[in-house]
Amino acid sequence: MKTPTILGEFQIIERFFAPLAATAPGALGLRDDAAIVSVAPGCSVVVSTDTLIEGVHFLLQDSAADIAARGLAVAFSDIAAMGAEPLAYMLSLSLPQVWASEQRERWLESFSGELRGEQQAIGVALIGGDTVATPGPLSLTLTVFGAVATGCELRRSGARPGDVVYVSGSVGDAALGLLVLKGDLQELDDAQRQMLAVRFRRPRPRLDLGLRLRGVAHAAADVSDGLVADLDHICEASDVCATIEMGRIPISQAALAAVRAEPARRARIFSGGDDYELVFTAPLAAADDIARIGAELGLALTAIGRIAARNSQASEPRLRVLGEDGNEVSLSDGGYSHF
Ligand code: ADP
Ligand code: MG
Repeated sequence: MKTPTILGEFQIIERFFAPLAATAPGALGLRDDAAIVSVAPGCSVVVSTDTLIEGVHFLLQDSAADIAARGLAVAFSDIAAMGAEPLAYMLSLSLPQVWASEQRERWLESFSGELRGEQQAIGVALIGGDTVATPGPLSLTLTVFGAVATGCELRRSGARPGDVVYVSGSVGDAALGLLVLKGDLQELDDAQRQMLAVRFRRPRPRLDLGLRLRGVAHAAADVSDGLVADLDHICEASDVCATIEMGRIPISQAALAAVRAEPARRARIFSGGDDYELVFTAPLAAADDIARIGAELGLALTAIGRIAARNSQASEPRLRVLGEDGNEVSLSDGGYSHF
């Protein structure tokens, strides 16, 4: 029998994480006190951080591979939403003290292996982080960096009255995929269930789209809390209103089948998060540019509504969803919120 080796903090860094830093000169091999991030003159660094805690954002029975792939993709979705180019990322890891050393080693092996695949897909490397033991649950924080020509970033606050509201890809798949992972949606065929589950487990940050929307879109956000909730964030930041049409919201064949079987699932289409598509606004004059970008990326970019001026006197809602009959749909189930 192999004698188990107890891995110390530095051995963990050296064995599992330094290889992920090999392609980033600024990481200094994870052997210095800090990393160096360089950007071209005239560029700004865009920074965002996400914390994932066992029992809150994932369950321990979720595979280390899923946690790694999903975590990094979700973190870089914020970089996509800003229209920035992915630069690098950092990882802070709090490992439960109660884990046996073999469990820790197995988890780190699988976690770092999948992190490598995902960072290659995004085109970045790990440049630093922290590794600690905790009396609490497993938790990790991913801090991601992007670069954008100063002033060209896509903010939430740029939407203007008259803008068209667009969303990329299809909406609601991930929320339905979570139901699949919980054993629901048995009436769908295997391929459909598989497709929905993959959209939840392995979201793709829309980085290429974000880059192409610079100078075209007025405002953008990624769909992490739900289409309605995230568009509402844009409206709030821009001090405008929006009206979207339920019947225009792009949904996949699998989602359509799920909604046909059980119409109550429709709420998940506009309030379920986790798709990591981009919702953005652009002037009418940009319609041709947007059609071309969609065609070049092979990605549906669907107009779902319009932005209007906000009447600051009236207590009107910022966001209206019209049903297929033209009547307003209630938004009581607006999106996922932690508090
Ligand atoms: P300090 O004691 O000065 O805080 P550490 O010993 O925590 O430094 O970290 C040493 C080096 O290893 C640093 O460059 C740090 O960024 C890197 N590092 C530590 N943990 C991780 C991790 N989980 N992922 C990537 N880099 C890490
Ligand atoms: Mg440290």
